Amino acid sequence: MSRACDFRVTLLGTGVPTPVPDRFGPSTLIEAGDEKLLIDAGRGASIRLYQLGVPMGAVDALLLTHYHSDHTVGIPDVWLTGWLQSHFGTRKRPFRVIGPMGAEMLMGHLEKAYAADIKIRIEDEKLPAQGVAVEVEEFDRDGSVYERGGVTVIAFQVDHGDAIKPAFGYRIEYAGRRVVISGDTRPNANVVEHASGADLLIHEVAIVRPELASEPFIQRIMAHHTTAREAGLIFKRTKPKLAAFTHLVFLASEQVPPASIDDLIAETRHTYGGPLVVGEDLMSFSIGETVQITRATHRET
Ligand SMILES: [Zn+2]
Ligand SMILES: [Zn+2]
Repeated sequence: MSRACDFRVTLLGTGVPTPVPDRFGPSTLIEAGDEKLLIDAGRGASIRLYQLGVPMGAVDALLLTHYHSDHTVGIPDVWLTGWLQSHFGTRKRPFRVIGPMGAEMLMGHLEKAYAADIKIRIEDEKLPAQGVAVEVEEFDRDGSVYERGGVTVIAFQVDHGDAIKPAFGYRIEYAGRRVVISGDTRPNANVVEHASGADLLIHEVAIVRPELASEPFIQRIMAHHTTAREAGLIFKRTKPKLAAFTHLVFLASEQVPPASIDDLIAETRHTYGGPLVVGEDLMSFSIGETVQITRATHRET
């Protein structure tokens, strides 16, 4: 990490459930001072951390936004592979998970599912039992959920649809700077409130070509997300130093291809003219006086 800036955000996965290799499942790494936080652990989060040279065991806490599987299927990998004492793992302390109500149940069941592996590796490889222990903290309302090393994380409720509750976004504060991650949500006033004047607003987005827009299955999905024009309005109201898209929901059918990145930008430009970037896996943001975009490369740790 550059010495000039010790607040850095890296998109580990900018995708959705679609199993494509260039956009892994939703996951974002926050590095602020000595703290390393993971927001969600979708498919491939462990691989992206490895590409960055960040040992999984170095992650101080995993914060969950909601319980759609695309945001959680990477958890057992980060948890268990991160326990191995090779350079990519190294965890010797409990795996800390912070999430809305439901985190306890998810992690409790994972501990049962992997009980045999845990038993085997403690006996056979003499791995430290502490390193696979799980510490879960649940919350059920807006407020601070993490405070350490000068980093404050505030959870705030969002609106991912009536059946998908709880669903939260996160506001991360460090050294007078503010980064907001929308989580999965429809356009939501709480995002606007927490993201107003943020240094970086990372927002989800969904797009579909007009010829598919009236299909019921498309409408069902779109009703859970934010369109590019709607996201543009949120950016216009909150005026972040930089607005970034992640969790790119590109809907398509066998006959109708997905929209393009250019379509996504053009749609957003109908409502927003400010700084905007479409996120890619391993895109990094240095949060200083300005917000700089870099392509993360392998870093020695
Ligand atoms: Zn979701
Ligand atoms: Zn999602």
